[in-house]
Amino acid sequence: MIVMKFGGTSVEDGNAIDRAAKIVHGRLAQRPVVVVSAMSKVTDQLLAMGRAAGAGDRKTALKLSRALRERHYNTAGELLGTALFTQFHGDLGVDFDALDELLRGIAAVGELTPRTTDHVAAYGELLSSKIITAAFSARGIDSKLVDSRECILTDGNHTRAVPLFEETNERVRLKLKPLLEAARVPVMGGFIAATRAGITTTIGRGGSDFSAAIVGAGLGAERIEIWTDVDGMMTTDPNACPDARRIKVVSFDEAAELAYFGAKVLHPATVLPAVQQNIPVYILNSRNPSCDGTKITARAPRCRNTFKAIAAKKRITIVDVAATRMLMAHGFLKSIFDAFDRHRVSVDVVSTSEVSVSLTVDSNEAIPALAADLAKLADVKYEGRKAIVCLVGENLRETPGIAARVFNELSDVNIRMISQGASEINLTFVIEEDEVPKVVRKLHAAFFSDLDPEVFA
Ligand code: ASP
Ligand code: MG
Repeated sequence: MIVMKFGGTSVEDGNAIDRAAKIVHGRLAQRPVVVVSAMSKVTDQLLAMGRAAGAGDRKTALKLSRALRERHYNTAGELLGTALFTQFHGDLGVDFDALDELLRGIAAVGELTPRTTDHVAAYGELLSSKIITAAFSARGIDSKLVDSRECILTDGNHTRAVPLFEETNERVRLKLKPLLEAARVPVMGGFIAATRAGITTTIGRGGSDFSAAIVGAGLGAERIEIWTDVDGMMTTDPNACPDARRIKVVSFDEAAELAYFGAKVLHPATVLPAVQQNIPVYILNSRNPSCDGTKITARAPRCRNTFKAIAAKKRITIVDVAATRMLMAHGFLKSIFDAFDRHRVSVDVVSTSEVSVSLTVDSNEAIPALAADLAKLADVKYEGRKAIVCLVGENLRETPGIAARVFNELSDVNIRMISQGASEINLTFVIEEDEVPKVVRKLHAAFFSDLDPEVFA
């Protein structure tokens, strides 16, 4: 069996859900379990309603809820046609009435707790999974709606609940196996789960990928397909470099390094349960389903090329901290990192010398206050408009002379910081932001012109 997960943009309206139905139809022989996200932007809207209600603004909350009701009714109407929709309409109406009731209750109390937040947020996937099940049935797929809250059990850490894997695996098998054996297609909402006591929880934003991996791992799936709106991971940002190519297969570690750099296809940590069991995860495009996408595996196959991808992250500020008074005394680094922690600024790249530390952070408003705080400990300078460039590839582990080859290509570029070794599979450096296009194109030409056809499309 396989797990097919459709993200928010892949179920964003009637046309998208129709495409998803066709894709599932083509894979019935492989016995799919379908996991769906809320329709695109719905979770954000639900959270906004919850916040409005929590602030006592009942009117705004209910107004947002009306718009949401409209969109779901329209989508269901488009997908089901008048006759079927007339039967189904009442079913959706019950959910929306319950949501409005909940929002009124929150507004009356004027307090939104994490537990109530989960109750509100869960409607996105509850509604999408209902509509999609009905649409699949209307298209000849023998589908069955399965309530994820009866399958995925978590602790009570609301909005970021952690699955209880043993019990979840048991439940997943108990609920889904009989359906699969009867050649039915279970459809479940991602992101939502419940505690042992049956209280609704959610497993973190973007959590539907995680749901798919949990279900796939529990059932020992042959593979997990993450259906999204891009062809997969690319060697670099195609907008910045027209020569960018699709990566056919990438290791989990490589994908994890790239995820950080805006390769926002999916966060690999969410598919860890599957990768740990050697279940491959595919990223596929629901708008271009014949494309093979990108396969993520526990270990990457051999690759002729040194690197898999080049990523760049702009809007970076370098903070230089020079220890005039304490001269890197014991506890100096700790006091610096404590300051970053107090200002809730997270650090990306660090490099140190005997007398100074350079750190990079995402440019943000907290930096002046942070710098003022750091100035009590040391001399501080900060400079924005920088960018981090990162080359990723498993082959870095064993190939000598790579740094020399990379920096040789960049002899005319001012490299501000270098970091290699933290993960063994990335080479990272910091440059001026406006040099990114030139640097990426040069490196792409140098390292990605003769590509291993097994690994790159
Ligand atoms: N709907 C949830 C979110 O937007 C979960 C998901 O789409 O993966 O965060
Ligand atoms: Mg997502």
